[in-house]
Amino acid sequence: MTMSNSPNILVIGGGVIGCSVAYELARRGNAVTVVDKGRIGHGCSYGNAGWLVPAHAMPLPMPGAVGQALQWMTKKDSPLYLKPRFSPSMALWLIRFMRCANERHLTYAAPALVKLALRTLVLMESFIEEHGGDDLDFRKRDLLYVCRSKQGLQHALRELEIVRDLGLQGVQLSSRQLKEREPLIAGETAGGLLLEDQAQIEPLRFVEALAGEARQLAATFLPNTEVHAIEAGGNRVTRVITSGGDFTPDEVVLAAGSWTAPLARLLNLRVPIQAGKGYALIVTGVEQQPSRCLFLVESKVAVTPRIGSLRIAGTMELAGLDESMNQVRVEAIRRAAHTYLDLPTSVETVETWCGLRPCTPDGVPMIGRNDHWKNVTLAAGHAMLGLTLSMGTGELVAQLLNGEDTITNPTPFKTSRF
Ligand SMILES: Cc1cc2nc3c(=O)[nH]c(=O)nc-3n(C[C@H](O)[C@H](O)[C@H](O)COP(=O)(O)OP(=O)(O)OC[C@H]3O[C@@H](n4cnc5c(N)ncnc54)[C@H](O)[C@@H]3O)c2cc1C
Repeated sequence: MTMSNSPNILVIGGGVIGCSVAYELARRGNAVTVVDKGRIGHGCSYGNAGWLVPAHAMPLPMPGAVGQALQWMTKKDSPLYLKPRFSPSMALWLIRFMRCANERHLTYAAPALVKLALRTLVLMESFIEEHGGDDLDFRKRDLLYVCRSKQGLQHALRELEIVRDLGLQGVQLSSRQLKEREPLIAGETAGGLLLEDQAQIEPLRFVEALAGEARQLAATFLPNTEVHAIEAGGNRVTRVITSGGDFTPDEVVLAAGSWTAPLARLLNLRVPIQAGKGYALIVTGVEQQPSRCLFLVESKVAVTPRIGSLRIAGTMELAGLDESMNQVRVEAIRRAAHTYLDLPTSVETVETWCGLRPCTPDGVPMIGRNDHWKNVTLAAGHAMLGLTLSMGTGELVAQLLNGEDTITNPTPFKTSRF
């Protein structure tokens, strides 16, 4: 079947990235269709911690990450776990990751990420001002890093130095000051950081709001429409074959998160994105809610206060495109929360979720046109920062596709760098 009204731009993937791209394209009057193999927003964008945090926009490979990762990688309950399996693409990814885990890469990548995150925050605030957002639970608030070890504090202070150089506000706090701010913090700590002007939002509702507004601007969303094959002629994609029919778009945007690598292989493109599985629990029964988001530094767990519940999220499991739940890792998150915080033993877990973070080895997303396929653009690989970089990514893609000057410098995100 060929759609009679072929879309000009076909976006593959209806997560926070695909929907941000669709919204920004639709605002510019482009004819957009978004296809998703499942429900819109039900991939990795569904139940993340909901943080929109420029001050936390660091690349995955940080200095010291290799030594740390080697200690953690084979421990099933550690913050980072590598499932033993034969995978040449995973091996190559790890080599690239190790090459990037240094100061030089950090000082290159972090400013690009922080600036895209700051741009996203501006765009998100105007989105909410324009369209309303009472049900999105968008809140500008501080982010508090809680460090139990001196080493954890040292890493945190390095991040503070970087973001301060970029004009963000943050201060170091002693153990006593941390406890004064958040009485829920348990026992002695090594101290922490208070990072100002960060934000949080309900992640699925935000994706739905983006899709809703894009629809108002005539974008089409087709859930349960899986891309099976892509045909090309010369150096252009000519046809995209899906479970819901064929499309003959002028432009294609690959925004399929962790599934971008197998999709790109349909075009003989090697996209080094590995899935980094993370988990989130929603717990109720915490009477004394924290008044800001908390980052439990050594265990890399994010705690987000919500209306009537807490979301506790974390861990990174490199296990391929496997969406099964591993209870050992769920328990590790729960344990971390009970170690850092005075949570009552009676807290009840009302939801457990896992999602696949799309991770590039250098911790920087791939955003921009492909060099070989002239009508293919990538917008994928946002790892732990998909929400934080969402609308900035959408704007950058829309500006590139419309030949506009870009507000964000596209160079660090270039797709040809691997
Ligand atoms: C536990 C956890 C906590 C997190 N916390 C935060 C946070 O607080 N802040 C933050 O910024 N980020 C956070 N993240 C990261 C963030 O969730 C991701 O970076 C983001 O969701 C990626 O969005 P995406 O649109 O690229 O991918 P996805 O949301 O996964 O969307 C990709 C879509 O592509 C579709 N698709 C795949 N293959 C096909 C196909 N063949 N045909 C059609 N459709 C296809 C999928 O169904 C999916 O809906 C967290 C992640 C996890 C796991």
